[in-house]
Amino acid sequence: MSRESQVTLVTGGGRGIGAAVAARLSASGHRVALTARSADELETVAATLPGESLCIPADLTEPDAVDRIFAATEDAFGRVDVLVANAGAAMSAPVHKTTDEDWAWMLEVNLSAPFRCLRRAVPGMKERGYGRVVVIASAAAKRGEPLIAAYTASKHGVLGLVRSAAAELAQTGITVNAICPGYVDTPMTEGSVTNVVSRTGRNEQAVREFFANYQPTGRLITVEEVATAVQFCLDSPSVTGQGIEIDGGAVQS
Ligand code: NAP
Repeated sequence: MSRESQVTLVTGGGRGIGAAVAARLSASGHRVALTARSADELETVAATLPGESLCIPADLTEPDAVDRIFAATEDAFGRVDVLVANAGAAMSAPVHKTTDEDWAWMLEVNLSAPFRCLRRAVPGMKERGYGRVVVIASAAAKRGEPLIAAYTASKHGVLGLVRSAAAELAQTGITVNAICPGYVDTPMTEGSVTNVVSRTGRNEQAVREFFANYQPTGRLITVEEVATAVQFCLDSPSVTGQGIEIDGGAVQS
């Protein structure tokens, strides 16, 4: 399939990593459908894309959202060749203070929503003998860190989904991979800085340095670096079932 004709669905396309992936793929000729809850953020991103795009405001945790998003994309562009399951959220709490609501939210948005998207994407991809699924997981898919047990469990879970789906689909022309970034310079990380400052009273600069130094390279990952890794997965038919670390060497596996 020529890259120019591909139709890509990016969840969480309104800001951060999703917006950068949309920009990168639109510049390579993809028609891009963007979804997230904030319609205004989607419109802002879509207005900057060089190619055709579609905005589908939706909350991925609502029961009929995934079907509605895929139906809208298929109505506009005919199919979904590439799924970038990027939408996600983070929260922090000691494990004994993690509530049932926290736990359910993390699993719903970071694990069940990517699962439902993948489940909906696969039949059409199989029929056409071609598909690319890239899930934006996290370094927390491979390594436990303090105070993020629910997030870590959801990201370990989604890497398991990726590995199993890749094994199952290996002979279909569909690849399934995860990108596992360290701390990326996005609004999510900005929110984490704000949370730590307000919870601990620590100096903001020191907290920023803490997040930068999670990466042995001593700096945050850029959204463009993550988008480059997504492009690599799209271009690499023999790369499947992988959790690719983009984390300055934090996790060596
Ligand atoms: P971000 O800046 O907070 O963007 C998250 C995107 O997901 C937004 O477009 C948000 O839009 C959307 N989203 C969140 N909840 C949603 C829901 N219920 N339904 C639909 N869309 C929803 O985050 P980011 O840093 O770009 O992170 C993107 C992905 O990378 C996430 O899966 C995250 O876990 C992962 N990741 C991030 C980092 C990091 O350091 N930033 C590191 C490793 C992995 P709305 O709020 O408008 O819905």
